[in-house]
Parts: sequence; C-alpha cells; structure tokens
Amino acid sequence: MNGTELKIRVLGDPVLRKKAKRVQAVSERHRKILSQMARIMYESQGIGLAAPQVGIEESMIVIDIGTGLYKLINPKIVKKQGRQSLEEGCLSCPGVSIKIKRSKKVFVTAIDEDEKQHTIEADALLACVFQHEIDHLNGKLIVDYASLLKKLTLGKKIRGAADKGKNEAVPEPKTKFAKL
Ligand code: ZN
Repeated sequence: MNGTELKIRVLGDPVLRKKAKRVQAVSERHRKILSQMARIMYESQGIGLAAPQVGIEESMIVIDIGTGLYKLINPKIVKKQGRQSLEEGCLSCPGVSIKIKRSKKVFVTAIDEDEKQHTIEADALLACVFQHEIDHLNGKLIVDYASLLKKLTLGKKIRGAADKGKNEAVPEPKTKFAKL
C-alpha cells in the first residue's frame, strides 16, 4: 500500500474480475487494509465491501448491516439453506440494482485479523451480503446475474460506468437498495 489511499474501483476495472488470493499469514498490512476498507464502506454508506473493490487482490471482506462490523479474511461458504430474492446494489456498479436469487441462510468460515477461526451463521440480508462479497472475491459482479433483457436495459448504464474508467468517481443517484 505504501500509504496510498485505497479507492473504490468501478465496473470496467480489471481488478474486479480477478480471483482474490488466499491470505497465508495475517500481517499488520492486512489489518491496515481492513480498517481502511471499513472506513471506505461507512463513508460510502455501504453495508459490505470486498478487497478487490479497492484494488486489493486478496481474500478479505468487511460487512456491517447495522448489527456490528465484521472484518474477515479467507471467507468461505460451507453450507447453504433455502432461497430468497433481494434487490442488490453495488458500490462498484454505480446506479445499477438487480434482484438476485440467493440462499436464505449461509454458514461462513473465516479468520479474523488476529487469525482466530470463526463460523458465522448468516440469515436474510446478512446472508445476502456474505454471498455478494464472496462473489467479489471470485471476480463475480451483480451484473452477471442480470437476465438478457435486463442486460439490454442496463447496457447503457453499465457502459457509461465503464467508460468513466477506473478510479474515477461516478455520481451516485439516491438509491433505496443496499449497496455492497
Ligand atoms: Zn458489490
């Protein structure tokens, strides 16, 4: 990092399509990145953020849906139950919202910044956010879930966001859906 500020990357930035690497040993650098990620998430009024969204190709996420902050490393879904469908936005896909079918409940294993092992049982919105952020770690974005018809209507918006290029702030319209 070398003291450089992390910034939110938007659609069109290749880093969003890369598979994040597993963190082998947690260092001070990882802890610093996680704190910065949490700050950026809160400043952007998001409820979740994955490391690739700030240009870091490592398996780290932060989540806070209003019930407390999670800073997690190497998160992995080990069990899924049920189905739900929620309207999702994404800090990396400004102005886009898509209704996505996901599991209603997920069990996630991860380590925290002190390398302590956790298993988290997440339900409803929290389950949705975990699945969204872990998608980011696999290079997957909400636009990949859009139907062909939705892709056509989104096309202009998506191209618009991509054309603005990386690292450039895209004006964000007021949205009612969660940004993750
Ligand atoms: Zn996202």
